[in-house]
Amino acid sequence: MAVDTTSTAIPDPTALLVGEERAQQIARLVRRVRVAEADGERFEVRSPVTGERVALLPACEEGDVEAAMRRSRSAQAEWARWPARRRARVLLRFHELLLSRQREVLDLIQLESGKSRLNAFEEVMATATTARYYGKHAPAHLRVRRRSGAIPVLTRAHEHHVPVGVCGFITPWNYPLTMGVTDALAALIAGNGVVVKPDAQTPLSALWGYELLEQAGLPPGLAQVVTGDGPLVGGAIVERADFLMFTGSTATGRKLAARCGERLIGCSMELGGKNAMLVLPDAGLERAVSGTVSGAFGNAGQLCIAMERIYVHRSLYDGYLKRLAEQVGKLRLGGDLDWNADVGSMISRKQVEATIAHLDDAVAKGASVVAGGRARPDVGPLFFEPTVLTGVTPEMDCHANETFGPLLEVYRYDDIDEAIERINDSAYGLNASIYAGKIAAARALATRIKAGTVNINEPYAAAFGSIDAPMGGMKQSGMGRRHGGHGILKYTEPQTVASQRLLPLTPDAGTPAAPYAAVMTQGLRLLRLIPRV
Ligand code: NAD
Repeated sequence: MAVDTTSTAIPDPTALLVGEERAQQIARLVRRVRVAEADGERFEVRSPVTGERVALLPACEEGDVEAAMRRSRSAQAEWARWPARRRARVLLRFHELLLSRQREVLDLIQLESGKSRLNAFEEVMATATTARYYGKHAPAHLRVRRRSGAIPVLTRAHEHHVPVGVCGFITPWNYPLTMGVTDALAALIAGNGVVVKPDAQTPLSALWGYELLEQAGLPPGLAQVVTGDGPLVGGAIVERADFLMFTGSTATGRKLAARCGERLIGCSMELGGKNAMLVLPDAGLERAVSGTVSGAFGNAGQLCIAMERIYVHRSLYDGYLKRLAEQVGKLRLGGDLDWNADVGSMISRKQVEATIAHLDDAVAKGASVVAGGRARPDVGPLFFEPTVLTGVTPEMDCHANETFGPLLEVYRYDDIDEAIERINDSAYGLNASIYAGKIAAARALATRIKAGTVNINEPYAAAFGSIDAPMGGMKQSGMGRRHGGHGILKYTEPQTVASQRLLPLTPDAGTPAAPYAAVMTQGLRLLRLIPRV
């Protein structure tokens, strides 16, 4: 039910799935999770919007993870022998299937996460973009590269990128399709198998994605999805994977990275953020306000790269705040499977309570609520109004800590250097945004902000969607990067293959050592004179 029905509804181009059809689809997806004990423990996935049960899934045990790893490993050996171009074609077919069958997954994403359909569509866009990018460019990233040999002409060296084996993925609930599938696409196309543990609140979208990948030609068994308890199932993956890609909180990421260190396996961590937007004096006011609204309240603020802090120059501050409060007040809350709502439900009571705790603490310590501020049980049990605070000070919990909900702080600044210092005064460094009139000046400022991505005149989509460029966090927001070359080569081991022709590099047995050293000394001097050696 959308609260405000006055605006123009965008018609869904396709009809929604009927009840029986959807029930059969979900039952089919659940059967993809293979467990040793068919009558073992199960857990429920409930709609955050209605509280109704959407699915009952197997609670996997350690043995199920072990079996999933084995199945993926045995399919991976053959898959790794496919030429990269042949693997890439699977992704391009997946891209087509995804776009033509998006209606199915839009419904599933909304049912299990409660988000608005537009935010669900962002997941389809991000997944299609990743499939297209790696489908077209992975063969170039993975190609064997000629390197300078030890001795020109005599030594030929080549750098290969061999798949690490089976990669583990532990993914969060906030973008269940994007996070559940896209990072694994890069690992798959690099020649790996994958074992994926989606968050227990939202496993269906990922299951749907892997079913679709198999329909696009991915060998059966290569991608395994295991469902259930985070520490138990996720922990079992960490113990067995050849590489771990984790997306979630900094607290969990820190623990898992330590374990990966002990096991000496590679890992990549995409963690939390306390992202800031800087509104420069020459920024377009309307554009900055609209970027703030979508950047802070998209996905009900439950987005790692969402804006939680806005720094506005004093010359624009009053006008900005007035327009922001007006625009936020117009946002339509709703949880139906249609395109009418701007802001959907939050995922869980825990997430709502975390938001309320930050809000109550800030208000008790003197902050002012400029917009929103109330739970909306009239719309659904887990709806909360997009909320804007001013007067936030360092003593307040929300000042330095990620809320991961629809709560935004607005600060006034006088001087740009001071604003950058305040932005960088954070344990996190995931994403940032600058609204500016002069793009070149903003780009120079961007490099002074300690964040893995900086968007100019856009809150997050410009950098996240520029998939040829790396995305990830500095400081406690993570390590490693997704997207681009970084995002695929991390799932490979670089291997050097060098061949020696005509003369050996190491002296034959019995070669007199002193003349050998004299010849080599001359050789080293000569090499110094040859460019690019
Ligand atoms: P979380 O760390 O609690 O859970 C994330 C995943 O880890 C889930 O699948 C969970 O079941 C699993 N898990 C939890 N404890 C585990 C353990 N001990 N061992 C193995 N697996 C375990 O995170 P959350 O609170 O559900 O997600 C929100 C957080 O994720 C926010 O901080 C957000 O900023 C971050 N996030 C980051 C990105 C990014 O790309 N940087 C994207 C989305 C979310």
